[in-house]
Amino acid sequence: MATLLRSVRRVPLDGEPAEPVDVMLADGVITAVGVDLASDGAEVVEGGGRWVAPGLWDEHTHFEQWAQTALRVDMAGTGDPAEACRLVADHIAALTGPEDALVVGFGHRLSAWSREPVTAELDAVSGSHPVVLMAGDAHSGWLNSAAQRLYGVSFAGICTEADWFALMPRVTEDPQSLAQARLRRIREMFALGIVGVVDLVMDDHLGPWQRLAAEGVALPRVDVGVFPSTLDEVVSAGLRTGDHLVGGNGLLRMGSLKIIADGSLSSLTAGVRDARGDVHGHFAYSLDELVSMQTRARAHGLSVATHAIGDACLSQVLDAYEASGAAGTVEHAQLVERAEIPRIVRLGLALSVQPWHLVDDWRAMDALWSGRCDDAFPFRSLLDAGVTLKLGSDAPVAPLDPWRAMAAAVHRNTPDLVPWHPEERITAAEAFRASVRTRVAVGQPADVILVEANPLDPQPDSASTAERILTSTVSATYVAGQRRY
Ligand SMILES: [Zn+2]
Repeated sequence: MATLLRSVRRVPLDGEPAEPVDVMLADGVITAVGVDLASDGAEVVEGGGRWVAPGLWDEHTHFEQWAQTALRVDMAGTGDPAEACRLVADHIAALTGPEDALVVGFGHRLSAWSREPVTAELDAVSGSHPVVLMAGDAHSGWLNSAAQRLYGVSFAGICTEADWFALMPRVTEDPQSLAQARLRRIREMFALGIVGVVDLVMDDHLGPWQRLAAEGVALPRVDVGVFPSTLDEVVSAGLRTGDHLVGGNGLLRMGSLKIIADGSLSSLTAGVRDARGDVHGHFAYSLDELVSMQTRARAHGLSVATHAIGDACLSQVLDAYEASGAAGTVEHAQLVERAEIPRIVRLGLALSVQPWHLVDDWRAMDALWSGRCDDAFPFRSLLDAGVTLKLGSDAPVAPLDPWRAMAAAVHRNTPDLVPWHPEERITAAEAFRASVRTRVAVGQPADVILVEANPLDPQPDSASTAERILTSTVSATYVAGQRRY
């Protein structure tokens, strides 16, 4: 069924004129853009002054974990382990189910806690419930003794990095609640105007997508990325980056190999140089190991998405790309040594960045990366040098919401606060272009959204520009020409 969007104005991503046009969606693509198009039997949707834009992408998500957080105790904003324990105690007091039901919390920041947590204090409030509290950056967890017995592990305090990544996928809610949470999260995405996500699947295999498609669930486009533990499976299936996944109705594609090369800012494990040039942090692999994984991916037609948060890790990762010749992205790149920017351009790597982390973490960066913050989230400098930016959320680390990512890139704080390192702000149009993959033009995929107002309407300052982006209202979302919201 074709759809004619009648009299809509194009959001001026590339200076498109403000005059209304008609946009025809047919067979999954935009087949015509013009004035007074004949409907030719298409369903006509009156624009009524609305604006049309390409649908939004979130270029870095962990969908299954995002679905799970819909079911978890919110630990964001807690100031110390005692406060977290009080939330757990309140939650448990309100439970009606079995006495040994798993309790999972999510969202605290270790860097925001005044001290290290101790297992015994969590035991003291949790009765016979196994309790797992996952840090908001997904790089560590705090388990009580019952949870440690449940998963057959033993830690005096927190569980971090490789130990945690092995454990985290095993911490999961009952299948029925999770199935409902997945559907709810997909509806939320469409309501935000999202037409596609990069999903970096943290357990084995290719995530829930092919199964959801088989169940008839309407899906966004998904580029499914996998971790090294799934590489053998992908290679033996002959899947190359960009290949359509079986049963995915053309929406599901093979993505990249994801490699996590260092830790994170707020778990204090990012691979950074301090102001004296000394290197700190957790490096998950040697250079040789990185090169060998990237080389294998490249040989089998896979692009690589390598996580590097600190500048020292970024240099190591660039060395690896240089040696392997692999194509792909650096994920996060929160601290970028200026001298490395030309190398990023030369290697043709895109940077997949999450501006909302800046809003969550600028205080921690001021404290932990003292003297280095001029190089943190340097979006302006990267764009000016010719680096391609792709915006994302890293959900569940930040909410899966491209409007937040754009607003944070534009103002570098919430609109009520002064911008953090304002010289690195980018424009609303630049942020929007970094959040879409297509254009409203003939021959492009019919992945479009209607918004009530022009999110790029010029404003007097970056705070009001960010505010305008954050208050954008999506009134329709089309994926491959099908209305999903
Ligand atoms: Zn991530």
